[in-house]
Amino acid sequence: MSQSSTLELARASYREVSLYSPNRAPARVDLSDNTNLWGVPPAAARAIHSAATASITRYPPLYVEDVKKAIGGYLGGIPPEMIVTGCGSDDVLDSAIRAFAEPGDRIAVPDPSFAMIPIFARLNGVEPILIPLADKYEVDPEPFLESRAKIIYLCSPNNPTGTVVSRPVIERLIDEAPGVVIIDEAYAEFAAGNCLDLLKRSPKVLITRTLSKAFGMAGLRIGYALGDPALIAEVEKSRGPYKVNAIAERAAVAALTEDLSWVARHVQQAIENRERMVRVLRDMRLSPIPSEANFVLVPVPNAVAIDQALRERGIAVRPFTALRGVGDALRISVGPWVEVEECLSALEEVLG
Ligand SMILES: *Cc1c(COP(=O)(O)O)cnc(C)c1O
Repeated sequence: MSQSSTLELARASYREVSLYSPNRAPARVDLSDNTNLWGVPPAAARAIHSAATASITRYPPLYVEDVKKAIGGYLGGIPPEMIVTGCGSDDVLDSAIRAFAEPGDRIAVPDPSFAMIPIFARLNGVEPILIPLADKYEVDPEPFLESRAKIIYLCSPNNPTGTVVSRPVIERLIDEAPGVVIIDEAYAEFAAGNCLDLLKRSPKVLITRTLSKAFGMAGLRIGYALGDPALIAEVEKSRGPYKVNAIAERAAVAALTEDLSWVARHVQQAIENRERMVRVLRDMRLSPIPSEANFVLVPVPNAVAIDQALRERGIAVRPFTALRGVGDALRISVGPWVEVEECLSALEEVLG
């Protein structure tokens, strides 16, 4: 079938979407995807290895109440009716966009921010409005409010800048936005603060989180959102049943109830190594952006060429070209210091 006839069969908005396909080629040292490079929480690994046959032959629980309870406990007592899970927080974000915007509506998104959001928007017939970050990578609330977008998406700490949205800005957006405000907290565990208390401020706040980053379980695909029960019910409808598989469900409950000190310990190491990485990058006369996540964005003259040279040395990072307000840059994940060190000395060599 020719490409043009394929395109005519699909939704018109799909013409502007290409497959999300970052370079995932294996590398000796892979600092490209912000996952937990210290490994799997041990109780989660045990749960996977001891999974019963029935967890393969039977359907998993519809909406994984046990995982909701475990998440609620981890977060200090959030009730299950304020929690919805999904196949990664990607699934939760996609479902939320579908639940809160009609085809033709708009979603306001900072630029740069999480690359999947404009894709999920278009897949749901929703138009992404990209709003440049202001000075120091802060969110300027005015254009977000002026857009009258049905959904405002914020990411804090923001991928790929690593910066957080300041309190007064978030509060103003929550108070004045016409619709739902999504706050993507995929990296909240690595930051000094978070937005959980804002759930009380407004029933229009939806916070998304994941077990893919701090919890080291990206391969299992478990994410969740927190919000007012009425909001959560709509996301759960949009998401549909059986989205968290039975093995992932067992592993998530185990990690969230038995391995919190394991997670906290590695989060602490990630934060220490992040600060150490920033110091070394500055010593190399680069200007890394101060980060509250488990990665650092560092502007460089030619990201594609440098990425290529690093790959030739067995090192993977995430290159960005012509990021708005930043230019070319490398996003480097934080891991055990031996790996970070190998990456930094290769980078020093490449930069000459
Ligand atoms: C990694 C990431 C996610 C997606 O994580 P899942 O693996 O789908 O849970 C969501 N938002 C941001 C900003 C991310 O960087």
